[in-house]
Amino acid sequence: MSGPGVPVLGRVPIVAGNWKMYYGPTEGREFVESIVGDLVAIPTVEVVLCPPAITIPAVHTVTSATHLQLGAQNMFFEDRGAFTGEISPLMLVGLCTYVILGHSERRTYFGETDALVNRKALAAFVHGLRPIVCVGERLEQRDANLTERVITDQVRAGLLGLPAERLGELVVAYEPIWAIGTGRAATAQDAADVVAIIRALLAEMYGREAAARVRVLYGGSVTATNAGEFAAVPDIDGSLVGGASLKADFIAIVRATAQAKGVG
Ligand code: PEP
Repeated sequence: MSGPGVPVLGRVPIVAGNWKMYYGPTEGREFVESIVGDLVAIPTVEVVLCPPAITIPAVHTVTSATHLQLGAQNMFFEDRGAFTGEISPLMLVGLCTYVILGHSERRTYFGETDALVNRKALAAFVHGLRPIVCVGERLEQRDANLTERVITDQVRAGLLGLPAERLGELVVAYEPIWAIGTGRAATAQDAADVVAIIRALLAEMYGREAAARVRVLYGGSVTATNAGEFAAVPDIDGSLVGGASLKADFIAIVRATAQAKGVG
């Protein structure tokens, strides 16, 4: 059953905020204290805050008694060991529900490959963390009509071998690289076209029923003004928000998402 107030196939709308390398523990806690009241008033949207790792515990002290979830921006796939600078899934469990994996900034600046993203996604499932796996094409790839090929390669390799019966825990974020932090968002139609490709690939890999349980987000210059347009696409379950998640605008994005999904 679907319709206003009823999530499509059990897919609860979700808005995740990627804080990137902004807000240390004190600033992060103060910022969340300033927005938490408005966010808890929108319980129909799952809200995931993804602060820098060092800020996660401070934010957790504010969110732990609410429906707000926390996510990490990255993690390593090993449980422990001599991996200087890395964070293990075991260290996130208990604080975070989600972990962003394969963000284009990780791929571009830190050389992350689809194979590495896949190992991390598998590790997330092992530890009960929900991966938010990012995929997206560069501008020159879009201009060369390579978007479908790039997305296909990223999905097939990055999401290989996941437990089909747990795909309801997976979130995929379509983030065209040319739209991230540029102020130039994709159109809702362009996003819908690529999200349809992602769902078709997931259906091939895991079956239609499992694919229909995956939540797929759009990310790239999402604002309070355009968030509703993306969320109005039935196949798009919400957004992954960078810059605008550092401001009170984030509240308006969550509200617009709830309204567009008929649960606001
Ligand atoms: C992001 O960091 O994932 C992102 C989409 O950034 P922005 O919203 O600033 O484009």
